[in-house]
Amino acid sequence: MEKKIVIIGAVAAGPKAACHLKRLRPGWDVTMVDQDSLISYGGCGIPYYVCGDVSDEAELRSTSFHMVRDETFFRQAKGVEVLTRTRALAIDRKEKVVRVKNLDSGEERELAYDKLMLATGARPFVLPIAGSDLDGVFTIANLHKAIEIKKRIAGGKVSRAVVIGGGAIGVEMAEALKDLWGIETTLIEFMPQLLPKIVDWQFAGMLKTHLEEKDVTVFINEGATAILGDEKGMVIGVQTPKRTLDADLVIMAAGVRPRSELAAEAGLLVAPWGGIIVNQRMQTSDPDIYAAGDCVALTNLVSGRETYAPLGSLANREGRVAGDNMAGIASRFKGTVGSFIMKAFDRCIGATGLTYEAALAEGFDADYALTAPADRAHFFPGEAIAVFQLVFDRTSRKVLGLQGFGVMNDAISVRIDAAAVMITAGAVIEDFRDAEMAYAPPFSAAIDSINAAAFVADNLCADRLRKLDMDRFLAWMEDFSLEPDWMALDIRHPLEAGPFVEKFGKDRWLAIPYIEVRKRYEEIPEERTMIILCDAGTRSYEVQIFLDHIGKNNTMVVSGGFNVIRRLGVDWLP
Ligand SMILES: Cc1cc2nc3c(=O)[nH]c(=O)nc-3n(C[C@H](O)[C@H](O)[C@H](O)COP(=O)(O)OP(=O)(O)OC[C@H]3O[C@@H](n4cnc5c(N)ncnc54)[C@H](O)[C@@H]3O)c2cc1C
Repeated sequence: MEKKIVIIGAVAAGPKAACHLKRLRPGWDVTMVDQDSLISYGGCGIPYYVCGDVSDEAELRSTSFHMVRDETFFRQAKGVEVLTRTRALAIDRKEKVVRVKNLDSGEERELAYDKLMLATGARPFVLPIAGSDLDGVFTIANLHKAIEIKKRIAGGKVSRAVVIGGGAIGVEMAEALKDLWGIETTLIEFMPQLLPKIVDWQFAGMLKTHLEEKDVTVFINEGATAILGDEKGMVIGVQTPKRTLDADLVIMAAGVRPRSELAAEAGLLVAPWGGIIVNQRMQTSDPDIYAAGDCVALTNLVSGRETYAPLGSLANREGRVAGDNMAGIASRFKGTVGSFIMKAFDRCIGATGLTYEAALAEGFDADYALTAPADRAHFFPGEAIAVFQLVFDRTSRKVLGLQGFGVMNDAISVRIDAAAVMITAGAVIEDFRDAEMAYAPPFSAAIDSINAAAFVADNLCADRLRKLDMDRFLAWMEDFSLEPDWMALDIRHPLEAGPFVEKFGKDRWLAIPYIEVRKRYEEIPEERTMIILCDAGTRSYEVQIFLDHIGKNNTMVVSGGFNVIRRLGVDWLP
């Protein structure tokens, strides 16, 4: 029997479900409804459109074979009806109808459905502060906003911008404004780090340093308290507790919230924070109503808890599963490990699974291996450092997450993706140790970074490696009185270590090159706690093993070494 399907929302999850369903059940009547005039666009491409890498917004709405995805395209090529500028006002679950309103004509009517799908997405969070509605203050709610921002910039109306919110979208927008348009850009984040909850502090710190290298001013621990305007209602600045920032453009990127009012008003189960509750078939609490994309609550596959993951990649996969199930095919979407990757100028940062901080908060016996190897064979031209952090549970040895930071190439994404697959499958440290990664010098090292991180995790679990957390080391460096007894054992080349000895004195900084430790170990004071330092941490581990062997075991290794310290932009380097 042929059925009527109505889908509310036509950007990512909606079109994916509609087209998939139409391929499965070509005779069914599929209608998408969207209040917007622009549909089926790649919202993820917005920063690249604003900066100019993508010259025309239509490219974000086009297929790979250059056809614009509008109502005509969906009708003619896909057999899917689309009603744009049409808002769904209410769902009558008993009568199985959706009341919709044409926003141009004001006409209201009812659409009957056998199965209904909500793909209503998310709306940006607008900070409840004075001035949020001033002219020149934008959220990145949809493509229209992006077009308007770019028009202002191209019209020469923007010389100073403030981006509120240091999440992924805020960072991408800061880059877009600074990189190609040269706009004086300030990024403010009220949490103590950028990308809060997405990466651990070291990774956020390396990102911040890079943004600053690229002349983006970054203030963390600093929220906007008001947006300031002139008498004509134009934005002129942003107030924080510490300063006033001049601005003729303000981008509010303070996160998004699920758009679930329709669902809630129809009596569907909705989480207190707004996510529509669905089962693994993307079915809501009403078996004839499905939901997918940024409007739903998902399960975090590592913690097992309810989570919110508003990502285009997931919206598409969830949409397909909803399409399958509306067609009667029982496929499942089990949840997410929260994989994320982004470009920031010349760097790439990515993560999957839980951060160390999140893993501790979830009650895991969490630990982490921080490594900073070369991203390809060290002898291959163009080789660069890629920093990884493998988060694991010491008791179960389960791998909980991986983060990466490196130069803008595929070294980070390859490892994040491999880790995401393994973490989804419940991998333990041994699985990462044994993971077979393709190798040739232009692509990776013979011991892949994933394998290397697992070796370090294994050494930590076996207590063969004793590390000093980077935050503790940095605190000790800021204030020697915190831990007066320690002394650095710097095993780098004398040309690298020498300036440190000169700056911090022979009583704090002992330089013995790695190659000479076995013959000069007697110079190491017995009673002092030695903090072993090299570039990546690998040589330090070897020296620690040797010193343990000769009975000097009050030593600790700074994992990630100077490869991480240098990227954190500390101000005490000589
Ligand atoms: C700047 C930016 C960068 C991003 N970058 C990435 C990235 O790099 N990687 C990634 O994975 N994700 C990224 N995302 C997120 C990604 O774009 C979203 O996850 C994705 O668009 C969600 O799709 P959706 O279909 O669930 O909802 P949405 O895209 O929000 O679409 C929902 C649609 O439903 C319509 N609607 C809502 N209510 C009604 C109603 N009552 N009646 C009619 N229509 C209604 C809305 O107007 C909207 O058009 C980015 C997002 C932005 C804004």
